This record gives sequence, structure tokens and C-alpha cells, in this order.
Amino acid sequence: MAKMKVAQVPKPGGDFEIVERDIPQPGRAQVRIKIHACGVCHSDVVTKEGLFPGIQYPRVPGHEVAGVVDEVGAGVEKWKKGQRVGVGWHGGHCFQCEPCRRGDFVVCENVKVSGISYDGGYAEYMIAPAEAVAELPESLKDVEAAPLLCAGITTYNSMRHAGAFPGDLVAVQGVGGLGHLGIQFANKSGYKTVAIGRGKSNEALAKKLGAHIYIDSENSQPADELQKLGGAKVILATAPSGKAMSALVPGLAPNGKLMVIGAPSDSLELNALDLLLKKREVRGWAAGTPVESEDTLKFAELSGVRPMIETYPLAKAAEAYARMMSGQAQFRVVLTM
Ligand SMILES: [Zn+2]
Ligand SMILES: [Zn+2]
Repeated sequence: MAKMKVAQVPKPGGDFEIVERDIPQPGRAQVRIKIHACGVCHSDVVTKEGLFPGIQYPRVPGHEVAGVVDEVGAGVEKWKKGQRVGVGWHGGHCFQCEPCRRGDFVVCENVKVSGISYDGGYAEYMIAPAEAVAELPESLKDVEAAPLLCAGITTYNSMRHAGAFPGDLVAVQGVGGLGHLGIQFANKSGYKTVAIGRGKSNEALAKKLGAHIYIDSENSQPADELQKLGGAKVILATAPSGKAMSALVPGLAPNGKLMVIGAPSDSLELNALDLLLKKREVRGWAAGTPVESEDTLKFAELSGVRPMIETYPLAKAAEAYARMMSGQAQFRVVLTM
């Protein structure tokens, strides 16, 4: 039987191991993907450290997968061998529960996450449920498409559902893995784009990415600065600090919305009057469906939004993961196979 290499986590908190496995066969309603690139996302910490209950080990992380369909299982009509595809965070749904019956697959009660519920993209091949697969546009390279399948869709899809219109003030908190994409998407969506970053050093890059205005959170109160600009219709909160996110709420315009897409470990603290007197909202958002990944990729193709990446070969998965965790990567780490 033909073999493949994977980078697996042997147990919660264990170190990455590069091992050989048999290339798996797709079952009914599944496809096998020959992987060309897989982004290394901070959420891979869930698999690495065993943060969700019930994860089975050894487990191969990875939910920013780009490659080609290599084999299709029985009953798969949509996908053909040789087609360029990707898999993101949303790794499949049951079609049976109440949210699925309402077409709201992201909140499926039996939702699967690639690289958590089943082996993901730190590998030469993977098996994915057919409903988790997204088509890649021709002009996007695999290494560019991969981070758009989690970081990209999360920023783009949350922003376009947040209620801002072209010309509205939209702020992106954080100039990092999510933020550097959020700034580009905000600019290309026609918003007056504000980047909120730490220190003067991020200003030039934030402006190059498309920020019209830069707010240095180390030397000013971002909420006050946003109010001087009339208040933000939407703030995309990406930075890993619940405290910093909470402090942005008074920077919202009336009816403005704080979209929480980063996942800090500390809680948000909200002042009721800040919310109710100006009818402000705080809302969470997670990625989206595969067809929304396709929307993201098409918009990136059309507008020129691209992730900034650092690539590592699969054999250096441990190094790539450590680089991502260091917070020093500029800005998305991508494994290549
Ligand atoms: Zn992710
Ligand atoms: Zn369901």
C-alpha cells in the first residue's frame, strides 16, 4: 500500500511527530485530497494541547488546506479528480439537526472541525467530507489560498455580515494574522478603514495594507480616537485580549457592532450603559461554510487581497507551529508538501 507522511500530535500537549501512514481511502460522501499547502493557525492549539473534549489521538491538525481532489468516494457528484480544492475550519455537518434543517450549517449540533474531529492538513493526503470542500480559483496559488480558508473567511465573512456600508468607518483591531487580512478586506470593501495596533512600528505596514487611519493603542485610548472620527460602525476585534476588546465598545457609533473573531483566554467585560444608550452590539463570529470560503477566495482574487506568509516544509511542522505560536510570524505560517 502506498504511504504518506503526516505530522501528528501523539497526545494532548505532546510534541509533533513526522510518521508514515497508509494513504487512506475515501468512504461514502468523502473525497481524498492531495495536499499542496496547509496554513498553521493559532486554533491548532486546540489539537496540540487537547483543549476540546473528546479529541482522539494521535491527531493530525490543520484546517487551512489547499490541494487537489485525488480520489472520490461513492455518492460524490460535486467533486472530480484533479479539481483544485480546499478545506477550512468548517469540516462538515450532519444535515439532520435543527440548525442544519434551517440551513445554518456553521452551528450544526454535530459540526465537525477539520484537524480536530478528524485528521487535517499537516499531511500529504487527507480525507474530507464532500460538504466540507471548497473550490479554489485558478489564479490563487495554494500557499495564498490556504490561509484564506480560515483567517481570510473569518475576517471577510464576519465583516460583510456586520452591517457597514461602503464609506462607513470600520476599525480593525490588531495588525497580525487576522488583522493584516481584515485591513485589506475593509479597504477593498470600500470602508473608511482604521487600523488599531500596538506601537508606532505597525503604522507603515497597516497603511500599506490599506488603512486610511492608524491608531496606536500604546499611546492613546482607541475608543476616544474612534469617537473623534465619529465612532465606528463596525470594529473587528482580532487581538488576543478580552480586556482590550472590551475597551473598544465606547468607540462604536450608535447601532455599531463589535465583531469578536479573535479568541482571547480572558473574558470580555461590558458596561450595560455603553451598550444600551447607543444600541450597540457585541457579536461573535466563526469562519463560515465552504461556499462562503469560495466567496472569500473570489473576492480576494478580484480585489488583490493576499495573505503575507512564511512557508515551511511539512517535515518542519514543529518549527512552523513554534514560529506561529511565537507571535513573531509575518503573518501566516504555511506548510508546503
Ligand atoms: Zn484557524
Ligand atoms: Zn447538523
